[in-house]
Amino acid sequence: MSLKESIRQHPDGILAKAYDFAEIAHRKQKRQNGEPYFNHVLATAEILSQWRMDNTTVAAGLLHDTVEDTATPLETIRKEFGAEIAFLVDGVTKLGRLKYRGVESKAENMRKMILALSQDLRVVFIKLADRLHNMMTLDALPLAKQKRIALETSEIYAPLAYRLGMYNVSGELEDIAFSYLSPKEYEWLERTTKEQYAERLRYLESIKPEVETLLKKHDLADFKIDFRAKRYSSLYRKLLRHDMDVGKIYDLVAMRIIVATVAECYAALGVIHEAWPPVPGRIKDYIALQKPNSYRSLHTSVIGPGEKIVEFQIRTREMHDESEYGVAAHWLYKERDKNPAGKWANEIAWVRQLREWQERTFSENAEGEGNTKPDPEKFLEAMKVDFFRHRIFAITPRGEVIDLPAGATPIDFAYHIHSGLGDEASGARVNGTLVPLDHELASGDMVEIIHQRGKKPSEDWLAFVKTAAARDHIRATLRTKDAFTKNWHTPRHCVLRVVVEDRVGLIQDLSTTIAQNHMNIMSFHANNPKGGRFPANRIEIASTDIPKIQKLIVKLKRIKGVREVSYALA
Ligand code: MN
Repeated sequence: MSLKESIRQHPDGILAKAYDFAEIAHRKQKRQNGEPYFNHVLATAEILSQWRMDNTTVAAGLLHDTVEDTATPLETIRKEFGAEIAFLVDGVTKLGRLKYRGVESKAENMRKMILALSQDLRVVFIKLADRLHNMMTLDALPLAKQKRIALETSEIYAPLAYRLGMYNVSGELEDIAFSYLSPKEYEWLERTTKEQYAERLRYLESIKPEVETLLKKHDLADFKIDFRAKRYSSLYRKLLRHDMDVGKIYDLVAMRIIVATVAECYAALGVIHEAWPPVPGRIKDYIALQKPNSYRSLHTSVIGPGEKIVEFQIRTREMHDESEYGVAAHWLYKERDKNPAGKWANEIAWVRQLREWQERTFSENAEGEGNTKPDPEKFLEAMKVDFFRHRIFAITPRGEVIDLPAGATPIDFAYHIHSGLGDEASGARVNGTLVPLDHELASGDMVEIIHQRGKKPSEDWLAFVKTAAARDHIRATLRTKDAFTKNWHTPRHCVLRVVVEDRVGLIQDLSTTIAQNHMNIMSFHANNPKGGRFPANRIEIASTDIPKIQKLIVKLKRIKGVREVSYALA
């Protein structure tokens, strides 16, 4: 239902009241393009209502600029519309005051967004709708401002929408931003692909009736077909990998089939493959094997009529809504699948947690009540108090968001980025201040890991890490260390580990030096660790005399090409 319809149906409701209030408050204001300012807040609210937000959020969308841009005090909003709407309007107003000063402030801005998000996700939805409409009308602004806003959109808002699972919104923001940030490339793309797009579309239109007939013949009745044109920003990235040759891009426009059930997805795929031969290697089952971003669909390319390659994307209505509305779509479908085990296995960790949490919360209300749908207002309300208690969002110095369970430490953060960084972590700075490695991180913390080359993890870390990934890596690394030093208590010989820059005659120099120190070599293993540039040699010698061994090491280190020597008694 559109916003206007909702208002017509409930002329005394909160939406009608917010509509009238905003219209009066912005009455004297014009936008840069000369339109009444009210058009902007109305469009923002329309977008929120398209995303199926609750009435509180849509009303706050109508009011989102009243405090910032008119003489209305927040107190008036509170009196007229209650504490909740006032809280949302205030949150949006505060985010609006953040000034974007290029990439160096990206992390800081992202931090503020995450903080807002963890207080109430709806503030961020309003901000995204606001930004989407501002991007749609960006051409009215001066050039320098266009660039700044477009950059901020591609650095902050598009990634944020992506993380919320709103892939369509994210792609749209990215596309508009691209047209302002790289106008020449955008123009070139438009010019070069216009014909192809039109031609592809005509072709797909021409085979659509055939696809419909085929599906119906196989008892698929409840389906919808539309076309998905590849976005310019992602097309451009793809072209960079394909010699800028548009002829090599088969999915310029794809035919999308939306069916009712997962079984029907596979049935439709079978129908398509029976009619036209699939292109080998281009069948992608993102239902059985989800993409890490939780996207689900079946993709295939077939050689269609006239020997042309056609890409099909097949999905259920639920999968479709999820990729359009992201997190917001999740409550719509909770009871439909009775056996979701494994289905969400590869979903973004926090979206999965959110869904699981939401299923738990609503399973009590829904039991035995037939098709009861949880009420969106209740869902969002409960989400803000409950969900974010269990997850935190920390930020890298480059502004990347890392999501972790509550109570996570810098060690969890480091292992989440890279296992090597975790192993070598020696300290951490949180928001610029040095903290102990067991420090508990909070949402919005900017975390910088200090690391030391060659350092090994400590067993003590196992006592405080929160993520399984960190625990597994620490254990694995400790195991290799243990193997190296086992039988520590009854040493019979010494194991030298010599890392070298290999050269002719080096091994001979090593063995001569050992012999000159009156020690016998028991075994000699050269091994080149995978990916490492320098081979590590493992030499066992028949001695347990530590002072003598240390003298030997000094001499070994003087040999040309030797980079590192360590020893252990075994
Ligand atoms: Mn606005």
